[in-house]
Amino acid sequence: MSSKKKNINQIASSIRDVPDFPKKGIVFKDITPVLSDINLFRKSIDLMVEPFTENKIDVVVGIESRGFIFGTPIADKLNASFVPVRKPGKLPHETEQISYQLEYGKDSLEIHKDSINEGQNVLIVDDLLATGGTAEATCKLVSKLKGNISGFVVLIELEFLEGRKKLNQYNVHSIVKY
Ligand code: AMP
Repeated sequence: MSSKKKNINQIASSIRDVPDFPKKGIVFKDITPVLSDINLFRKSIDLMVEPFTENKIDVVVGIESRGFIFGTPIADKLNASFVPVRKPGKLPHETEQISYQLEYGKDSLEIHKDSINEGQNVLIVDDLLATGGTAEATCKLVSKLKGNISGFVVLIELEFLEGRKKLNQYNVHSIVKY
């Protein structure tokens, strides 16, 4: 087995399934055991960065809140700036907002208006891709600021929820797939 495959298997086996969290019927993918092991965390960051090292990324956008954890070391590795996308009412300066549909109800996300310049290459980061609603809304926010979306990267992809279909115009990369 290649060392890359071994590393992916090691990461996959440390991700913890928590049934019925935060609601009945949801199997929550807990990444905290990956964070607790600095070697595994470093390997995760290296694997997430790998496809984008030649893309001249200017800005890494991290989605609240676990996207911040992975996004900041990725920004460091790519020598890019880091920009947070947050839940409403958290960012102090002038924001651009977007509302998006959840299974039940609506949610919103915000970004600082001055955080991306027109034409900058942006890599969007989160821990997990499920239905793709959060990712799609974040892509729309970045597009409103006229950023050029170079890619979207997550540690975990729940392939059976087909989130990728909402992102078919983008370069989507994931490490551990279920
Ligand atoms: P979605 O918009 O459906 O793609 O959901 C993605 C967002 O919800 C990410 O920010 C994830 O952190 C979180 N999320 C969704 N489903 C799960 C899950 N089963 N385990 C952990 N986090 C999840």
